[in-house]
Amino acid sequence: MNDHKAERLPVHRGPAAWNSILSVQLASPPLETDLTVDVAIVGGGFAGLSAARSLRRNDPKLRIAVLEASGLAEGASGRNSGFMIDLPHDLQSEDYAGKGVAADKAMISLNRAAIGFAREAVEEYGIDPAFFDPAGKINGAASTTGHDLNVSYADHLKDLGETSEMLDAKAMLEVTGSRHYFSGLYTPGTVMLQPAGYVRSLGSGLRRDGVDVFENTPVTRVKRSGAGWDLATPRGRVSAPKVILANNGHLESFGFARRRLMHVFLYASMTAELDKDTLSRLGGQPRWGITPSDPMGTTMRRIDTAQGGNRIVTRTCASYLPGMVPSEAAVARSAKVHRRKFADRFPNIADVPMEFSWAGHLCLSWNGVAVMRELEPGLFSACCDNGLGTVRSTLTGIGAADLVLGRRSEISAHFLAEDQPSRLAPSPFAEIGANLYFRWKEWRARKE
Ligand SMILES: Cc1cc2nc3c(=O)[nH]c(=O)nc-3n(C[C@H](O)[C@H](O)[C@H](O)COP(=O)(O)OP(=O)(O)OC[C@H]3O[C@@H](n4cnc5c(N)ncnc54)[C@H](O)[C@@H]3O)c2cc1C
Repeated sequence: MNDHKAERLPVHRGPAAWNSILSVQLASPPLETDLTVDVAIVGGGFAGLSAARSLRRNDPKLRIAVLEASGLAEGASGRNSGFMIDLPHDLQSEDYAGKGVAADKAMISLNRAAIGFAREAVEEYGIDPAFFDPAGKINGAASTTGHDLNVSYADHLKDLGETSEMLDAKAMLEVTGSRHYFSGLYTPGTVMLQPAGYVRSLGSGLRRDGVDVFENTPVTRVKRSGAGWDLATPRGRVSAPKVILANNGHLESFGFARRRLMHVFLYASMTAELDKDTLSRLGGQPRWGITPSDPMGTTMRRIDTAQGGNRIVTRTCASYLPGMVPSEAAVARSAKVHRRKFADRFPNIADVPMEFSWAGHLCLSWNGVAVMRELEPGLFSACCDNGLGTVRSTLTGIGAADLVLGRRSEISAHFLAEDQPSRLAPSPFAEIGANLYFRWKEWRARKE
């Protein structure tokens, strides 16, 4: 196949709150002309921008264009909870433990390489340190069942030679101001991102570095032309010998990995800014991040003024949507759940309004693999984040850049050694089955 038309373009539901709470920044203009570059990158999330930075660092002479369908940080890269996690965090397991000691050690080393890559970008581009806070995170347990999961995860970390610290209910109260938590497992290596701040600043740094970044420029067709590729966008065409598709689940919209990618939407809400009185009733520390001890539980995060205001973010609820379009009703339904989870944890400030509620797109594969390879001559992919794109998509972006440059690296070798995503059961069975499975797992993790 030499001609790939986009069957769909991304549809975002609800505001990308992390972007909305930052001071307004000028978006890069859309592409309005025809352009020839050495490498064109489709998608300006963690994967696409990391690919651009990696190419730039390795070959400063390359002409590079990033084409983003919406604004930078308006997609999932600005809609997540911002945990850039170094340790195994297998969302399909009961307690995040991954695939055994050897595989987990290798994954940790890669995750830390992704964090190191981001740290260098932060230093080199002068990115606000509040957007990249190496504070670590806590796995919160709200029940003895959750605590047992934390104990089992801590044992696994010990086998990996990784440190962790078990916090009791009093320590959890001191951190969060909430009496909800029975215990917590602190691990120091996670970086807490202001995801939109990081992504936007990475985009600005790349522009200063000579990379062309075009926002609001959806690529509607990728077609072979001679030895290279032509990319169609609404108001201009890009010709490039090499192209990286870094558009995550929308890889399938161009006809690749059909019925092999699972399109899952996660939902989150962010409070309005907490006033002085609310802050004194809340107590606790100004910044913290709690992932649930059960992967299907509720993530909570508190941020402060430097990150866009004193606010709390609640993330829970998931739905499997092969059509890739979440509904307003699903966002509204999830927002009600967020209110309830928030009130369970913070009954003394339960009246605080939620200012933003939104959905964001994850791309999973049943066997947990990414799609990072040369799809056709000169056409590469850095897709399928498996829910952990702050690190995973940073890695697939770097790996795809290595393939473009003909470099063999530990990162590209890791992804090239993976199987292709396994084939999924036909819809609507897969859709109904997956959504029932999510509801059951969420019900089981309801306290967490
Ligand atoms: C609520 C929520 C919480 C999350 N929490 C975390 C977390 O704490 N830690 C973590 O690691 N991950 C988290 N994630 C997942 C994380 O957001 C994703 O893994 C990450 O954004 C994937 O990055 P990416 O660059 O691969 O894809 P994306 O961020 O989806 O970027 C792909 C980009 O491609 C663009 N695009 C698509 N089609 C086209 C086209 N035809 N033309 C041009 N552009 C196109 C899209 O607009 C998009 O901006 C969370 C996700 C959600 C929704």
